[in-house]
Amino acid sequence: MSEFDAIFVGAGHNSLACAAHLALKGWKTGIFERNATIGGAVQTREFTLPGFRHDFGAMNLSLFAGSAFHRKYANELKAKGLEFAPVADCFASAFPDGRWFGVSNDLEKTASRMAAFSPADAATWRRLVAAFPAEAEHLFRLLGSPMSARALAGTAWNLWRKKGMSGALDTGRLLLSSPRAWLEETFESAHVRATLATWGMHLDFAPDIAGGAVFPYLESMANQSFGMVLGKGGADTIISALAGMVTSAGGKIATGAEVAEITVSGGRATGVRLASGDFHVASKAVIAGVAPSALAGKLLPSGSGNAGFDTAMLKFRHAPGTMMIHLALDDLPDWRAGAELRQFAYVHLSPSLDAMSRTYQQAMAGLLPDEPVLVVGQPTAVDPSRAPQGKHVLWVQVRMLPAEILGDAAGKITPAHWDQVKEAYAERVLDIIETYAPGLRAKILGRAVFSPLDLERENPNLVGGDQVCGSHHLAQNFLFRPARGYAGWNTPVANLHLTGAATWPGAGTGAASGFMLAQQLGGR
Ligand SMILES: Cc1cc2nc3c(=O)[nH]c(=O)nc-3n(C[C@H](O)[C@H](O)[C@H](O)COP(=O)(O)OP(=O)(O)OC[C@H]3O[C@@H](n4cnc5c(N)ncnc54)[C@H](O)[C@@H]3O)c2cc1C
Repeated sequence: MSEFDAIFVGAGHNSLACAAHLALKGWKTGIFERNATIGGAVQTREFTLPGFRHDFGAMNLSLFAGSAFHRKYANELKAKGLEFAPVADCFASAFPDGRWFGVSNDLEKTASRMAAFSPADAATWRRLVAAFPAEAEHLFRLLGSPMSARALAGTAWNLWRKKGMSGALDTGRLLLSSPRAWLEETFESAHVRATLATWGMHLDFAPDIAGGAVFPYLESMANQSFGMVLGKGGADTIISALAGMVTSAGGKIATGAEVAEITVSGGRATGVRLASGDFHVASKAVIAGVAPSALAGKLLPSGSGNAGFDTAMLKFRHAPGTMMIHLALDDLPDWRAGAELRQFAYVHLSPSLDAMSRTYQQAMAGLLPDEPVLVVGQPTAVDPSRAPQGKHVLWVQVRMLPAEILGDAAGKITPAHWDQVKEAYAERVLDIIETYAPGLRAKILGRAVFSPLDLERENPNLVGGDQVCGSHHLAQNFLFRPARGYAGWNTPVANLHLTGAATWPGAGTGAASGFMLAQQLGGR
């Protein structure tokens, strides 16, 4: 048995960032991770062949690079080996008609590509980019503040003071809009609209879902203004740097150490019991970086003492699942729409708003989509160090998929458990890519397929393959994430806190929930 000030359940990047800050404040911290490797959704491993390094989940580290945690600890992280690979050609879409559109961090390049679709859209884009710094101040303040009535009032007051009532209402309207509403009233080109709308599909914002417009807006403006960053050598650069900070400050990280129970006495969390039977004591805090249903359903066997909280945690809604296909390649895909696409970090294959809406609806109905949205990541176009010389890795994210398969929208695959159908579905995905990049199959040296259930096996927070650990729809975001009354990383059990993607401000690699909680507990 060991004694700590704070014990962390799981070594996701939020827990690591929280532990690093607290350890530097003098707290004795202990992190217990069930897997052999730390990082959760942020890991880089040789899934296919030796020398080919694949990002298991997150590949785009722009949120981490732009985070408050990175701003405060850039030097410490760098000293522990953190290195980014900057991306100039950020994201693009290839279309079935043989055309493509993409956003690079060079405004002239993006605007001239856009003008080929619509000169009016190119002028709109320039206007939006010019206005972005003023808009970003408020949106980033909102996303980077604790979700309390006081913080919200401060953000609203600042917004009103800087933009006046009508400007403030415009920002509020953007936050409530669906991707389609914003895109259709802002751009006239269907190609431009589809390229930007795909960012909503990285979360669970199909084009017609209220509250989703802000994601295409922020991603496209931020990529235009700042570019994108990947991890040099792999996304796990942030994990090893965070772990280095924790251990240098005296923190302990144990792997292969599944937490079976959070111990509670007199309404106060006192520590953890591991699956091995070992007990560890925490005098100030137990911080669980887990899915809400696991907290209420498993880690607190007698419940939290508050039935409303327990029910909310058990009913926490997850987004549809993701399949990941990792390929080791002889060469990058030869994109039919244009050789320039080989330079982009992401090539989206999501032809139209209607196709995306249909895909989402099919997944929600339990059907294997006939045409899933594909995010084709080309990390070695940016960072060749991830593969042997001249070779490449491809990171294919397949959105949106049901956790339980009830049917096939294409009527070809007999519904069964994911273990039985994942290879057949991966073939459908490769067929789709092949239509946009003929000859891809001939370049494949090795492949590894993770179904939604494989993702959950690797990381139980990815319930049903939900890569964002919980729907971000309005009813489960802001003051309602993970549930009303608990957006401040608190629980009904004293000293027990929840962190991670399921909590405010949600998924992504921004370490925001972990860092805000750390500052709440240990001071700035
Ligand atoms: C396929 C995929 C692609 C993504 N792409 C991007 C991207 O490009 N950019 C981006 O910003 N974000 C991306 N995301 C989202 C982002 O990676 C996650 O939102 C974020 O990493 C979640 O971090 P977390 O701190 O919540 O913990 P997680 O990463 O979920 O880690 C939680 C850890 O806790 C451990 N754990 C759980 N229960 C226990 C227990 N009982 N005992 C011990 N350990 C336990 C798990 O094993 C895991 O290691 C992606 C996610 C996925 C899955």
